[in-house]
Amino acid sequence: MLLCKGRYNDRNGTLTMNNNEWYVELKRRRLALVILLLGFVPAMVAIGAVDMAVLKNFNLTFVCAGVWGVLYLAAFARVAFYKCPNCHKRFHRYVLWSRRCARCGFDYSPESPSKQSV
Ligand SMILES: [Zn+2]
Repeated sequence: MLLCKGRYNDRNGTLTMNNNEWYVELKRRRLALVILLLGFVPAMVAIGAVDMAVLKNFNLTFVCAGVWGVLYLAAFARVAFYKCPNCHKRFHRYVLWSRRCARCGFDYSPESPSKQSV
């Protein structure tokens, strides 16, 4: 699958990073998604104000809103199709902020008993 290939996957789609790198990458992707979601209205207001002051219309604002929407969908897909380090299938099913893999139940949380050394 095209979305699963990248710098963290080898040619066969197998993950090539450890669990900590995997978790940092997941946090980074989720942060990008939140920034794109919460930043939409303030960014459009700012662009719209500049657009109206300089060009006297909102054409540039509509173009920027469209580009922003495409970026948001890409960020959403990067989180939704992120692979589990344990079972190598999609980590999320319906909830993008779950701590456990939807397929194998892998729990990435640092306080998880399965992660603590005995
Ligand atoms: Zn899994």
